[in-house]
Amino acid sequence: MNTYKRLPLTFACGEGAWLWDLQGNKYLDALSGIAVTNIGHAHPRLTAAITRQAKLLLHCSNIYRVAAQEELAEKLTELSGMKRVFFCNSGAEANEAAIKLARLHAHKRGLHDPIIVVMESAFHGRTLATLAATGNTKAQAGFGPMPSGFLRIAYGDIDTLRALRRKRNIAAVMLEPVQGEGGVRVPPTGYLQQVRDICTRKNWLMILDEIQCGMGRSGRWFAHQHEGITPDVMTLAKGLGGGFPIGACLAQGEAAELFAPGSHGSTFGGNPIACRAAQAVVETIINDDLCARAAALGERLMSSLREGLSGTQGVVEVRGKGLMIGIELDRPCTELVAMAMEKHLLINVTAERVIRLLPPLILKDSEADQIASTVIELVRQFLATPTESAS
Ligand code: PLP
Repeated sequence: MNTYKRLPLTFACGEGAWLWDLQGNKYLDALSGIAVTNIGHAHPRLTAAITRQAKLLLHCSNIYRVAAQEELAEKLTELSGMKRVFFCNSGAEANEAAIKLARLHAHKRGLHDPIIVVMESAFHGRTLATLAATGNTKAQAGFGPMPSGFLRIAYGDIDTLRALRRKRNIAAVMLEPVQGEGGVRVPPTGYLQQVRDICTRKNWLMILDEIQCGMGRSGRWFAHQHEGITPDVMTLAKGLGGGFPIGACLAQGEAAELFAPGSHGSTFGGNPIACRAAQAVVETIINDDLCARAAALGERLMSSLREGLSGTQGVVEVRGKGLMIGIELDRPCTELVAMAMEKHLLINVTAERVIRLLPPLILKDSEADQIASTVIELVRQFLATPTESAS
């Protein structure tokens, strides 16, 4: 169906940070399929894990034990400090599971009209509940009535959350540690700790959507770890499978014990190949020290961009965390995507005026420098040319 505004480009294959189109032209990938191919294209370890498992067992119903799931859950809980994992197939599904946990948590406390506090500019998915949690009225348009039970407040502003402390029926607070689709927004330092503190005191679940910023991208395994906190519930997808579809909802404490047999499930969730793919991704991030690499590369890219764009009229800010980088302009700039494509560079623009860079964590220094110099040149050229959207 007509759901995507597609670019006129078809890729045949990829390797590392590079993609080749059907005519054999080469493109530098600074988007990673929107934070998915974090260990690059056609990584030999990932390819081998998928093919090995495909020869053994493609699917196994969740009415049996699934070894690959148990091993992956073991690894993810160890890395995150969470206790249990529910596996599914996408980010929206992981967030659906988190929302259901918040509601179970509320009903257990005797709250039968629970509210989940969500954020302005948030993005949590396209299913009805996750769309209701998403702070984008354009994405919601035409799909009403939205499921109820969500209350939206300003992101990054602790006072608005604090002001809700006396509200009787709050079950949870759901947010992204760094907002992705909303414009690569990094909240003020200490904000996540303060949210954690309020949630703990009020017995609200702290739900963190790490679907875009998790799996090493921010320079730590999970972006909230920069603030030394642990959420009650965390969702993952995108980079978890390195390109193979898989999602996960992780929980600790009381939240980890809320689901019981029959209360939630998925036919394909925790598929053996998906779990072997995710294990290979985790092993690669560990073996190649890719969290540290993402932090170092992020610094390198952001400082080159800041230096190259300093004093350029029209550039509002260069910001980000690790390899999740946004360059905010003072005007809509979606044309930059096609301009970059002509220079064989793949980028994205989100929230209309924020250039978003999400390159793979296996990027070489020289590739990072190439991304920076091309983006700087394009932004300067774009801002120097009066456009219709700028007027
Ligand atoms: N949450 C965040 C933060 C996302 O960035 C996305 C996708 O962009 C989603 C949830 C939804 O994930 P999916 O498209 O896999 O359903």
